[in-house]
Amino acid sequence: MSLWHATPAPPLPALQGRQEADLLVIGGGFAGLSTALHAAEAGLSVIVLEAHLIAHGASGRNAGFVVPNFAKVDPEQITHRPLVDMAAGSADLVFDLIRRHAIPCDAVQSGWIQPSHSDAALARAASRVRQWSALGRPAELLTKAQVTEMTGVPGWKGGWIDRSGGVVNPVAYARGLAQAAIRAGVRIHETSAVTALAPGWRATTAQGEVQARRVVLATNAYGHLWPGLDRSFFPLRVFQVATQPLPLSIRQRLLPGGQCVSDTRRNLFTFRFDAANRLISGGMHVISWGADRRVPQTIHRRLMRVLDLPDLPPLEHAWSGLASVMPDFLPRVVELAPGLLAGFACNGRGIALSTAMGRELASWAAGRDAGDLAIPRQRAKPLPLHALSRLAPNMLLPLSQLRDWADTRGG
Ligand SMILES: Cc1cc2nc3c(=O)[nH]c(=O)nc-3n(C[C@H](O)[C@H](O)[C@H](O)COP(=O)(O)OP(=O)(O)OC[C@H]3O[C@@H](n4cnc5c(N)ncnc54)[C@H](O)[C@@H]3O)c2cc1C
Repeated sequence: MSLWHATPAPPLPALQGRQEADLLVIGGGFAGLSTALHAAEAGLSVIVLEAHLIAHGASGRNAGFVVPNFAKVDPEQITHRPLVDMAAGSADLVFDLIRRHAIPCDAVQSGWIQPSHSDAALARAASRVRQWSALGRPAELLTKAQVTEMTGVPGWKGGWIDRSGGVVNPVAYARGLAQAAIRAGVRIHETSAVTALAPGWRATTAQGEVQARRVVLATNAYGHLWPGLDRSFFPLRVFQVATQPLPLSIRQRLLPGGQCVSDTRRNLFTFRFDAANRLISGGMHVISWGADRRVPQTIHRRLMRVLDLPDLPPLEHAWSGLASVMPDFLPRVVELAPGLLAGFACNGRGIALSTAMGRELASWAAGRDAGDLAIPRQRAKPLPLHALSRLAPNMLLPLSQLRDWADTRGG
């Protein structure tokens, strides 16, 4: 169980019997809940069906970093300008929703810092700052001294910050979106896995059925409902850990401003604190056998080393989740059939981007043409040799580590 799910919430009732709605949303993560909330605010009748509990999937297993950009691609590489604008405003959208609906989720819009591990990465940071600043974003280049002062960690070459980013408790945020949606009239059913979806549209669960004009499939890497869709992305398992709470003295040295940090290494190094001063970080495995036991300890050792914390308290929570990853790390909206859209692949940016994607999907449900959305509509395209290529992000990790090491030696 993730740190965030350790605090229970009252369950929502399973679907019973037959219901109708303008829009059916399948999946109760950020994408589905944001779609439902925005669609209800646009005047639609909406039902959400979630197979397990709200935020059972990646939305309940992430690190809570709110990051308003793309993992690999910069604005000038994207020809579809509305997609860039959507990402640019996505963290502001999250924090605005939190304020507007008074969602208690330990949200702090303190900024997201990306330290540069090499001179080449610092040059890319300068270019990123130029591109996002040109769009009016609060992006700033940071010197080596500034990064050391803000993170409490020496060794990076410099970096940049987007001050519209920040941190949340992701499960509390998702539950808050669900409550806001319910207040707006949405009917949300947990423990209601859709087992069949027939044109018309008619969705079947163990104890009920929903008839809807339009359907949004927001099942991300956790769904296998639509044949072939799960071959159109890589399901990447990512591990997260949270230590026991750290003493205040350390908290005053590390990240005194309360930001979240993801550096530029290919074998990404991330850290943040939660509201109780637990240190949170993540990592990946190469070999899945024994990974649940091994990887959290590897992350713990890396935290001790990089943050110079020889007395780091032990882990209190360790968990993993599946992210749906595209080779270009860009989100996807796929038209599976008339009246049926799937939205997924917000990768490591899903808190901000899935929330923003949900607003787009809601506008489609309210009548906007799918071709006019900020995320260009596509057809589902199975990735070549998926059974093998899906292993690539894990198998390439040692090579990434080697290249990171070579980068730091070179510059
Ligand atoms: C370990 C990890 C760390 C991450 N860290 C960050 C981070 O710090 N910041 C960030 O922005 N992003 C992060 N991400 C990515 C982010 O969490 C995701 O992009 C985002 O949560 C995706 O939301 P979603 O709603 O699309 O999908 P999910 O949250 O995966 O929701 C899909 C839901 O669909 C439900 N479902 C599936 N099939 C059915 C069915 N047949 N019937 C009904 N329901 C069904 C599932 O139960 C699930 O609840 C991380 C991801 C992982 C895995």
